[in-house]
Amino acid sequence: MFDKNRLVKVSITDLSDEGMGIGKADGYTLFVKDAIPGDEIEARITKAKKNYGFARVEKVITPSPFRVEAPCPYHRSCGGCQIQAMSYEGQLKFKEQKVRNDLIRIGGFDEAFIDSVMEPIVGMDDPFRYRNKAQFPFGTGNDGSVITGFYAGRTHSIIANTDCALGVPENEEILKVILQFMKEFHIQPYNEETHKGYIRHALIRKGFASGQMMVCLVVNDDKLPKEEVLAKRLMALPGMTNVSLNVNKEATNVIMGTKTRTLSGEPVIEDTLRIYELGEGVADFQTVLGKEPAGQVRFRISPLSFYQVNPVQTEKLYSLALNYAGLTGQETVLDLYCGIGTISLFLAGKAGKVLGIETIDDAVRDARENARINHIENAEFITGNAEEVLPRMYNEGKLSADVIVTDPPRKGCDEACLNTILSLEPKRIVYVSCDPATLSRDLKILCDGGYRLERVRPVDQFPHTVHVETVCLLTLNL
Ligand code: SAH
Repeated sequence: MFDKNRLVKVSITDLSDEGMGIGKADGYTLFVKDAIPGDEIEARITKAKKNYGFARVEKVITPSPFRVEAPCPYHRSCGGCQIQAMSYEGQLKFKEQKVRNDLIRIGGFDEAFIDSVMEPIVGMDDPFRYRNKAQFPFGTGNDGSVITGFYAGRTHSIIANTDCALGVPENEEILKVILQFMKEFHIQPYNEETHKGYIRHALIRKGFASGQMMVCLVVNDDKLPKEEVLAKRLMALPGMTNVSLNVNKEATNVIMGTKTRTLSGEPVIEDTLRIYELGEGVADFQTVLGKEPAGQVRFRISPLSFYQVNPVQTEKLYSLALNYAGLTGQETVLDLYCGIGTISLFLAGKAGKVLGIETIDDAVRDARENARINHIENAEFITGNAEEVLPRMYNEGKLSADVIVTDPPRKGCDEACLNTILSLEPKRIVYVSCDPATLSRDLKILCDGGYRLERVRPVDQFPHTVHVETVCLLTLNL
């Protein structure tokens, strides 16, 4: 019997969506945290269900060829990186397979067909220190001192670590200033159980091209005692452009509240992304990136707005989206879930006009401002939920589209949104997705509704995590 605490030998053959190794011991399936496909391990069962169980690695008997020494000492306990102990090459292979498997299993596409439309995953040359944004929770350590770092996987206990291997080196100094300030003025971190205390999180962002830094303190009150002292100290750090305070008094897991106030500096930071011309066929980014960019777009980013976290890969991702859109200069383009207008403004130079739809009002304001500072006059933005705005405008006869780009959050597109896309009959649909499962579900609906999947390319926006981004091109069957 496979009872709790029993030691078993397992050959790991696969990786779960959460990044756990999957293997069988005498036909019984086990999910093993920190195990990698190719590992032969001795594992201890931690939870046994009827048909499957969970286990932890007791000893690696034969390491997988994909196993590497992970650089971060916290990678096993921290919830951020699930697959840092896997070689980068292995990670890319796993992500490619995940997209392929979901398209077949959930999307219902034929294997040979998927192999004919899938293009190789776009990886990074240097997959560390790529994140331009981090959100550090604050809490109390065992000795009663204030700590900050990252949540341990699936918990809310904080692992004190101010130097994440995926984040920018500037994070460390900023967090040190905040911790010192809290100590000096006896400012308590927020306590989730008692709902007392002040600082919940610090959101730190860096414009990679501009060098500008933003710190937004998420506080359990409208005001932070001595906030002006902290703002002044943070503003003295190199590149600091925005120090702001976000109010979140709710007893919730959602990090940010809806109200933000600038404490010092500008209300936004800026960044620039380069647009690359990819040409016909499967783009080889080694060659592409050696060439002059075809243009660039400047962005102003508010604390609350979504902005892709990996700017090096984002330039590739958006250039692919532009390439797949196949614009000639005449087209009317819809950019659904447009955020601060990033993709819209990449497309605007090659389109007749672009209309972006986005639910967060601050982001829409940023998008309009971004169009203005880039002297782009053919892009408009509307605040609202895509699944409401789209059907409404369509029914009012106010909508047409030659090309639709959609870039929804993980839950994918709402069915009302997909149905209106189908009614609009654009020649091309470019689907940018951060979740292969919902992508596959939505592609099935679009393909059943008259579209053909032409191209699929995974892009690794999040090295060392299990997440993967995918860009797809669909064309209308004639
Ligand atoms: N295309 C943008 C943003 C993508 S992230 C970029 O690449 O930068 C997804 C965006 O969808 C977020 O900005 C989020 O605020 C927005 N969003 C979430 N639900 C939405 C909905 N129902 N309708 C419209 N926008 C939504």
